Amino acid sequence: MLIVQKYGGTSVANVERIKNVAARVARTAKEGHKVVVVVSAMSGETDKLINLAHQASLNPNEREMDMLLSSGERVTSALTAMAIEDLGCKAMALTGRQMGIITDDVHTKARIAKITGDRAKKALDDGYIIVVAGFQGITENQDVTTLGRGGSDLSAVAIAAALNADLCEIYTDVDGVYTTDPNIVPEARKLKKISYEEMLELASLGAKVLQTRSVEFAMKYNVPTVVRSSFNDNPGTLVVKEDKDMENVVVSGVAYDKNQVKLTLLSVPDKPGIAAKIFNAIANANVVVDMIVQNVSSDGKAADISFTVPKTDSKKALKITEEIAKELGAKSVALRDDIAKISIVGVGMRTHSGVAAKMFETLSKHGVNILMISTSEIKVSCVIDSKYTELAVRVLHDVFGLEEARA
Ligand code: ADP
Ligand code: ASP
Ligand code: MG
Repeated sequence: MLIVQKYGGTSVANVERIKNVAARVARTAKEGHKVVVVVSAMSGETDKLINLAHQASLNPNEREMDMLLSSGERVTSALTAMAIEDLGCKAMALTGRQMGIITDDVHTKARIAKITGDRAKKALDDGYIIVVAGFQGITENQDVTTLGRGGSDLSAVAIAAALNADLCEIYTDVDGVYTTDPNIVPEARKLKKISYEEMLELASLGAKVLQTRSVEFAMKYNVPTVVRSSFNDNPGTLVVKEDKDMENVVVSGVAYDKNQVKLTLLSVPDKPGIAAKIFNAIANANVVVDMIVQNVSSDGKAADISFTVPKTDSKKALKITEEIAKELGAKSVALRDDIAKISIVGVGMRTHSGVAAKMFETLSKHGVNILMISTSEIKVSCVIDSKYTELAVRVLHDVFGLEEARA
């Protein structure tokens, strides 16, 4: 088999752990498999580099940011390849560029356009284990790009799709995908399997165990993916196509996201074209808007428009929104960065009613005020005050019986 194994930051946090990874990789190779390894930077390293950039510049240039950030994964890929060689296997580290990962030019959150992978294919045929530096690619103009936080997951899934791998294993610091973050709710249960769709919702709603785009990619190309721990041999969670028994569970997971801010334009004239104007300007700056709520005032002449954007884009979004507010004659712009989004997810919601009501009732019973709501076929999300995050996750996990949910 051809197996892609991705090891996250905590799994390569120091040389000892890198040697542990090397041993797992060598074992897989000695079982007769071809192996492509994708590594993250050592844990904390990417944050450290971002911090340095903000010390060096008030507004770091995004192209240079990518030059900087890609270095973290380069370090671990080389160290991992060396450690594998010590175990008697042939290994070769490749950067994103050497792997032929071509992306668009949206620095710090580039999208993969294609993967050529010719060099890797030849090296695999020559008996090498390939160790790819995750999280990075290259534009057609040869500029280095990175794929957004958590992007090594995407590198792995995309490489697995491009090389037509038999399996993509995502090794991390928990045993698999749980009903909610096991570091917040100790009663959370590991799922044996989860549908691509549910995983996509959970990821995009904040469960960082898999990066959202990696799940999109896995779903689109049907990449058999498993999430498991690099610290033990427990079976992990399979991310697969939806099957019949998944529908019997109404809610299969709870997610939270503290990485958004809420912007509100107060007293905007209520006339056609206003929303288009605001959200076009935000989209043109490559900022992704998540929730949107508009309240029309009682006299029908002015509206308040609130929306959420990622915390990392808050400065950019605030600047644009303030400019637009001036242009539109809105009263003011308010920003709140102490918010969290709490979500429940499950394909069973399609066929069960009263799920949202139960969520709202539970939150209210615990004194948690809801600031915004959004729903889709298989999820309900509420924005709340961030200080209630842990409480909300725990009570929702409890009220929907997730400890006893499908294991
Ligand atoms: P890596 O560095 O290996 O990429 P991450 O820190 O990105 O690891 O992702 C793993 C973390 O995801 C876990 O430590 C856990 O705290 C968090 N997490 C959030 N929601 C879930 C969930 N539903 N199941 C498992 N882990 C989750
Ligand atoms: N090192 C990058 C990050 O911390 C990418 C990754 O770990 O997947 O976001
Ligand atoms: Mg991650």
